[in-house]
Amino acid sequence: MAHTLPVGRFAPTPSGHIHLGNAFSSLIAWASVRSQHGRMVLRIEDIDPRAQDRRVADDLMRDYEWLGLDWDEGPYFQSDRLDIYEQAVDSLTARGLTYPCFCTRSELHSATAPHASDGTFVYQGTCRHLTADQVREKSKHRHPATRLKVPDAGSAEGQVTIRDRVYGDYHEDLATDCGDFLIRRSDGVFAYQLVVVVDDGLMGVNEVVRGRDLLPSSARQTYLARLLHLPEPSCAHVPLLVAPDGRRLSKRDRDTDISSLREAGISAEAIVGRLANLIGLAERGEAISAEEFANRFTWDAVRHHKRDVVVTENFFLE
Ligand code: GLU
Repeated sequence: MAHTLPVGRFAPTPSGHIHLGNAFSSLIAWASVRSQHGRMVLRIEDIDPRAQDRRVADDLMRDYEWLGLDWDEGPYFQSDRLDIYEQAVDSLTARGLTYPCFCTRSELHSATAPHASDGTFVYQGTCRHLTADQVREKSKHRHPATRLKVPDAGSAEGQVTIRDRVYGDYHEDLATDCGDFLIRRSDGVFAYQLVVVVDDGLMGVNEVVRGRDLLPSSARQTYLARLLHLPEPSCAHVPLLVAPDGRRLSKRDRDTDISSLREAGISAEAIVGRLANLIGLAERGEAISAEEFANRFTWDAVRHHKRDVVVTENFFLE
């Protein structure tokens, strides 16, 4: 059988600049694909209208290029692909797999609802059995979100096991571990879970590499891919870079932005070298290019260093 070349992707949300955590997972995604002579796709995940500033997307691309990362296809913008997502939701609805949900945020956050593994609430199915009359009545007051029905607890179809390349097997029984989940929000915006699956499937992505915080999402995404008859990509989740108080690095940590580091006079090679050092691929203080990172890259290196990393003020001095 012919060996399938890997197709990976950068899938940034343009809600801020690329920070060290994004750079780390992007570098690994790129190095894995490049070291196997595969193809890289760039997809700007601007599905949320609050993240549709093309200047921010331009800055992201500039940061990638400055780091030495490149891509073969794209950029695709999710905001240009709404018809495609609509068709996917319609096809699931036509098969009786979805229902409108009128629950408000406060109803969803009821104290008794169990938590899913990623901290979200397991939906208790409140709107699953509304009659057509109830739906009509409720629609007068509130625009519904759309939920996907997951199979009954304990059923074979509701079991999803992810073979993660770094963290090993991750299992969910969808009914008890996440519940019926949103594929479209009440404001009409398509849910991340839906669009990522549709896009990865249609763009031929067969290797998903991203932060460990998204591992639980993989179960929902795998289930959706099965329903939509899309191939299931391989998964590799990588450790997170966290602030000293344990939070995931975010837009608030401006000093870890790639653009701030660049302005502070730190070279791309120093950043790549420091990130390579986290997984044992470079000596302390060694500066290397992204290309050299790809030459040295192995998945074993990530597997041997899978704990989250605390980024302190002295990150580049340590
Ligand atoms: N757009 C997501 C983010 O920037 C990544 C989604 C994914 O890799 O599946 O966090």
